[in-house]
Amino acid sequence: MELIENELEFLQKTDDNIYRTIFEAEPIPNSRRESGIGGINRYADLEGFDNSEIVLETAKRLDKIKKKLYIQTKSFDEIIELTKNKEDMLASVPAIQPIANKDLRRTASGWGYRVHPIYKIRLFHYGMDFTAPTGTEVFSTGNGTVIEARRSRGFGNTILIDHGYGYKTRYAHLNSFNVRKGQEVIRGDVIAFVGNTGRSTAPHLHYEVIRNGKKINPVNYYFNDLSPEEYDRMIVLSMKSGQSFD
Ligand SMILES: [Zn+2]
Repeated sequence: MELIENELEFLQKTDDNIYRTIFEAEPIPNSRRESGIGGINRYADLEGFDNSEIVLETAKRLDKIKKKLYIQTKSFDEIIELTKNKEDMLASVPAIQPIANKDLRRTASGWGYRVHPIYKIRLFHYGMDFTAPTGTEVFSTGNGTVIEARRSRGFGNTILIDHGYGYKTRYAHLNSFNVRKGQEVIRGDVIAFVGNTGRSTAPHLHYEVIRNGKKINPVNYYFNDLSPEEYDRMIVLSMKSGQSFD
């Protein structure tokens, strides 16, 4: 029983300090874990024997273990549910680069003020440009649904994906589409091919990450395929270029 109690205590501690913390659940109060089992005469039939004392003590201790195990099981059920939701969230949020760019040579221009290639004035560039030859594969950066696959004047052929959890991504100046509006995609699916359509000066992909309706810096959303060192280099490269391609 002592061994079981020790193991149980270890499980409770890791549950409260690690699992419940990661998945943003409140720790279970000690009072709930330690609370006894109700009923005044619960052990009445164990009284009046020569060895009643040890039998009673054992019965009470076992009941307490049973109760703690039950609470722990309930807690794990709750954690499993929370993990499921997080798994879906982690698969949906944009987390890779939209084209193959392992050596980062295709990072052309990042977030911030840039000289616009056509207007020749400084404009805020709300995305990231990747230079690549026409026909290069473009990937969906997270699971989601294609809510736009159309031609527009500025963006040229453009795709908008809704990832849920407040996230959308845009892919612009595409040569051609590989998906239709309404189609569900998973991270890494080839959704289109790089092009030079719309207001663009050379074949490239213009990529945007949108959170709750606001465009945000995509550089923070490549955590699945960049090491910390590569991430630092990407920041430097995307800051260096003074001109965007659109
Ligand atoms: Zn751009």
